[in-house]
Amino acid sequence: MLKIEQLKVGIKDRLILEGIDAHIEAGSVHAIMGPNGSGKSTLAKVIAAHPAYKILEGNFKWQDESINDKDAEARAQLGIFLAFQNPLTIPGVTNMDLLMLAYKTKHKQSIDAISFLEYIMPKLELVGLDASFLHRYVNDGFSGGEKKKNEILQLAILEPKLAILDEIDSGLDIDALKQIAHSLHMLKTTQNAYVLITHYPRLLEYIKPDYVHVMQKGRIILSGDASLAKYLERYGYDEVKKKAVV
Ligand code: ADP
Ligand code: MG
Ligand code: MG
Repeated sequence: MLKIEQLKVGIKDRLILEGIDAHIEAGSVHAIMGPNGSGKSTLAKVIAAHPAYKILEGNFKWQDESINDKDAEARAQLGIFLAFQNPLTIPGVTNMDLLMLAYKTKHKQSIDAISFLEYIMPKLELVGLDASFLHRYVNDGFSGGEKKKNEILQLAILEPKLAILDEIDSGLDIDALKQIAHSLHMLKTTQNAYVLITHYPRLLEYIKPDYVHVMQKGRIILSGDASLAKYLERYGYDEVKKKAVV
């Protein structure tokens, strides 16, 4: 579905991604692990075509066609969704406004408020947020866990083909983590793919990845199956680095 070839990315005068190759097939779950500053969020953002980064080299292919020239909106239209590590607060815009907009984007038609409430209630229940969250400003005063659940709620509406979840598990208590993992399970099909960026193997106990990639200093230094996450937990990044052939 998505192929990334020889991707090099800079910001200002610095090289941040130093040559990334990856292939994400429909139906698969990929985990990206790696120490802070290794470039995980940068990779996530350039897949979604975040404008702050400069693509110095490389290709993005979506179903074998180049999407290098497609901006963030066009990539979202293709079905690429990014849940940010730190979701933005949008004062003055209610969550209901935002979610109705997501609905309209997905279905290419508007929906009246009553029908939308009927549509959204089961999804709120799935992610574990109550209806009062619809009327609050987007992420305003939400706890860490509530922000993350709100990202999954958007995912549940948009039904993306490729969902990139950047540290969706960070700062969550165990109940919120389980709920988010459960929602992700329920939203998984053979047609969509997840890229889970995480420091912690715990999430990966609830959603088993088909592939685990370890990033370090802007490169994928090692890829393996789910057992690699367990190995990382036991031995740490330094040991994994020794195994890696770069
Ligand atoms: P990770 O998500 O793995 O912790 P990031 O992708 O956030 O890593 O960051 C990779 C490197 O790029 C870090 O050294 C970070 O400081 C740098 N970086 C990322 N975004 C910016 C930015 N907007 N301006 C300057 N440096 C950045
Ligand atoms: Mg980080
Ligand atoms: Mg990050």
